Amino acid sequence: MPNKLHRQVVVIGGGFGGLAVTRALARTAVQVTLVDRRNHHLFQPLLYQVAMAGLSPAEIAVPIRSVLRRQKNARVLLADAIRIDTATRRVVLREAPPLAYDFLVVATGALTSYFGHEEWRDVAPGLKDIEDAVDIRRRVLLAFEAAEREPDAEARRRHLTFVVIGGGPTGVELAGAIAELASYVLARDFRAINPESTRVVLLEGGPRILNTFAPQLSDRALRSLAGMGVEVRTDALVTQIDDDGVLLGGERIRAGTVLWAAGVAAAPLPQDLPAPVDRTGRALVERDCSLPGHPEIFCIGDAAAFVPAAGKNPLPGVSPVAMQQGRFVARQIGRRIDGRPMATFVYRDKGSMATIGRSRAVAEIGKVRLSGFLAWLIWLLIHIYYLVDFRNRTFVIINWAWSYLTYRRGARLITGRDQSKRSTSDGRVP
Ligand SMILES: Cc1cc2nc3c(=O)[nH]c(=O)nc-3n(C[C@H](O)[C@H](O)[C@H](O)COP(=O)(O)OP(=O)(O)OC[C@H]3O[C@@H](n4cnc5c(N)ncnc54)[C@H](O)[C@@H]3O)c2cc1C
Repeated sequence: MPNKLHRQVVVIGGGFGGLAVTRALARTAVQVTLVDRRNHHLFQPLLYQVAMAGLSPAEIAVPIRSVLRRQKNARVLLADAIRIDTATRRVVLREAPPLAYDFLVVATGALTSYFGHEEWRDVAPGLKDIEDAVDIRRRVLLAFEAAEREPDAEARRRHLTFVVIGGGPTGVELAGAIAELASYVLARDFRAINPESTRVVLLEGGPRILNTFAPQLSDRALRSLAGMGVEVRTDALVTQIDDDGVLLGGERIRAGTVLWAAGVAAAPLPQDLPAPVDRTGRALVERDCSLPGHPEIFCIGDAAAFVPAAGKNPLPGVSPVAMQQGRFVARQIGRRIDGRPMATFVYRDKGSMATIGRSRAVAEIGKVRLSGFLAWLIWLLIHIYYLVDFRNRTFVIINWAWSYLTYRRGARLITGRDQSKRSTSDGRVP
């Protein structure tokens, strides 16, 4: 049990931000309790590889308990934080008694947002956790199976049409990966259908895809996608999604599979904090990542809206922001305990990248803009490097190399249940 002489730090969330702050507190005289409703830390940047059957879930997730096994001043609780009582300085958990804190770090991340269209959630899954990735993998692989069985050409065409909504990095990755899966990986596996006749449509509401990148990189990504057979439609606002596909104003695109990569919002907990939130529910934090009027509470990563200077946009929801803020907050807690003044968080932007497919990517590192194979190689090396603590990093590399050389997909299993089918009391699916 925690030593009473030490300050109690409670960290909610074992994602990039929460893990970074916990690990950086290893040598500080505090007791850290990390609470997460999941037992694993997830490497979200590679989720699309699970969704596209390139990697298995265990290759991109690691038990939080095992990451922190050597850190004596940290313990892990598998629990759902449902409320924060700032008056008594306690975190209310669903499954356990409240946790008292001297310092609290909220690092609860983000969720998929449908901008008020909750009814789209079932027909157009988003990609945020392992369950989403396995669900998408199931839908995509079943679509090919359904097409293989289908005698009617029109219905077959519908099964083989995939619509991806949202032209940010995740949408671009998904669209490129479906096109590749169809033309390289599945091409030889089917008899009645020709997977190369797969239609992949990427819909972007704004004027260009990858709009956080330089326009020339958006153009290159567009050309790469076109070369892979992906139809990219910009200024395309989806007005309806249903079992038959999507509506763009008066135009219907009939599709068997629709995927949503168009929006995220903060997970609900920050809205419970005594702080203003932005329109996506992120807590507006001070320059030291604490809440206004609550120097003992910090909010970091995707859960926070950190505005670096007046009039500037908040920092983006990417893992380097969460990790750097996590390490920064750990230092601030140490400073506070030592009676030193708080510092200001400064984000060091090391660049951004998006992969478009096998050996294609775009990267923007400072003023350097790269695309094609070199960008993809850098993307690959960075992602492997950051799979830190994933004991099976070697397996991931071997798996990738194998997939790359052979165009095979080791993880092409159809598992999980159709969400619309309820299981019976004995666990059977009717
Ligand atoms: C598909 C996808 C691709 C991405 N690709 C990239 C990329 O290529 N590069 C990049 O830099 N970023 C990428 N990102 C973004 C990046 O993953 C996030 O910015 C990063 O994960 C944010 O870290 P975080 O610690 O704030 O939250 P997260 O990593 O999301 O962690 C939040 C944690 O909090 C837990 N939690 C939430 N609420 C509660 C609660 N009430 N009680 C207990 N536990 C709770 C969750 O279970 C989770 O473990 C991608 C994201 C997605 C979804």
